[in-house]
Amino acid sequence: MDAAEFRALGHALVDRLATFLETLPSRPVTTGETPAEVRAVLDADRALPDTGAPAADLLTRAVELLTEHSLFNGHPRFFGYITASPAPIGVLGDLLASAVNPNVGAWRLSPMASEIEGQAVRWISQLLGYREHGSGLFVSGGNMANFVGFYAARAAAGDAWRVREAGVGGPGAPRLRVYASAETHTWVQKAADLSGLGTEAIRWIPTDDALRLETRALRHAIETDRAAGDVPMLVVGTAGSVSTGVVDPLHEIAAICREADVWFHVDGAYGALAATWPDAPADLRALHLADSVAVDPHKWLYAPLEAGCLLARDADVLRRAFAYHPAYYHFDDGGGTNYVDLGPQNSRGFRALKVWLALQHAGADGYRRMIADDCALAARLFAAVDAHPDLDARTLGLSIATFRFVPPDVRGRLGTAATESYLDELNEALLERLQRSGEAFVSNAVVHGRYLLRACIVNINTTEADVDALPAIVARVGHELHAARRRDTRR
Ligand SMILES: *Cc1c(COP(=O)(O)O)cnc(C)c1O
Repeated sequence: MDAAEFRALGHALVDRLATFLETLPSRPVTTGETPAEVRAVLDADRALPDTGAPAADLLTRAVELLTEHSLFNGHPRFFGYITASPAPIGVLGDLLASAVNPNVGAWRLSPMASEIEGQAVRWISQLLGYREHGSGLFVSGGNMANFVGFYAARAAAGDAWRVREAGVGGPGAPRLRVYASAETHTWVQKAADLSGLGTEAIRWIPTDDALRLETRALRHAIETDRAAGDVPMLVVGTAGSVSTGVVDPLHEIAAICREADVWFHVDGAYGALAATWPDAPADLRALHLADSVAVDPHKWLYAPLEAGCLLARDADVLRRAFAYHPAYYHFDDGGGTNYVDLGPQNSRGFRALKVWLALQHAGADGYRRMIADDCALAARLFAAVDAHPDLDARTLGLSIATFRFVPPDVRGRLGTAATESYLDELNEALLERLQRSGEAFVSNAVVHGRYLLRACIVNINTTEADVDALPAIVARVGHELHAARRRDTRR
């Protein structure tokens, strides 16, 4: 492809994308097609052609396939999971990053990109009140960021028997233990499994009624394990749980970790950036007490996927977990950071650019406002649900509201086992119907054993009108399903 063709195709593509972004609110959130239908549209079984095809045709078809058969997490009525709308400047940033294509594994291979990554990491750290001069790096997402914190903790705890060389089962190795509440995201199982500790190394600490980790139980578990000769390796505190946005008692957990000399890691993939919100839970002011914090720029910094970030108290704790110095690398550039030493990746893409651009485009105040707006929209939704006669509001945490549909003729029998399990089933069916409809997209949570609908707003495109429309949509679909079930039982 020569420069002239690249220019023409690029302009045409950007024009189409501008229209796509502009018309997003008028499209359905998703199509509800089945895998078989999507495969048929794609002609998925077709073999790779031997001869090439014109780039213009390929790009036209790709735009068509993707804009007609996708779920749009940037849609104003996408309230599912925790997936953000992409900041347009981040979209352009990714284009620029891939054109320059620096390998941000080593400073010499990416002089400016490495420095931009360092600056973006520092800005994130300062924005959420972690440290002025901490360290950290970009990874693919929250799972990987948490893994990096986990491995840093493993290296620190296993220093005595050289865990990196001898392994977790090496001679003289005690059992390493990890402490987390049941509300912790599943990354912790994956990390315990893949690191060789095994998921049984995790001590599941109970939670209180508000689903926050019980610190008395944590203290007791650490003491018991230590008395048995095990080594407490890591305590995970969650800053914004994935189900309900709960923030663990991070101040107290930090104090316990300091006293017991255990690594304190905060999973703030979703909620750490809510520390910028004036009404944030007080425990979000405790992030600076953590040894490491995972945060997801592809959530509340609205970076296009993928961008996760791990913050650590200094670069050495990461080097001690990840650095090797093989003969075939010669990277010593007088103070430049070689990111290959700070994490598991070797070649590294320039994820930082889209985040660095978006941070400056909005500014710190812009982010404070956008995050506060999302939380206000969730609170508005919670109030609207609470006021609706056929919906029960359940929890509100950061920008996540949970609720369920309760038909009027069932309301008198709430709390009985049969009614509760009927409502679980009804709300699950409601979720399935709603997700396929394309009208609005919510996800689910199970709270105290009950199946709930869950709306999470991490979306620069959602307006008050979008939120105000949701209760009636949910109730309408709920009534349809409930009526159909009653007809079936009468028949
Ligand atoms: C989203 C999330 C994760 C996982 O992050 P990914 O970016 O999906 O890998 C982990 N923990 C919490 C609390 C999250 O919200």
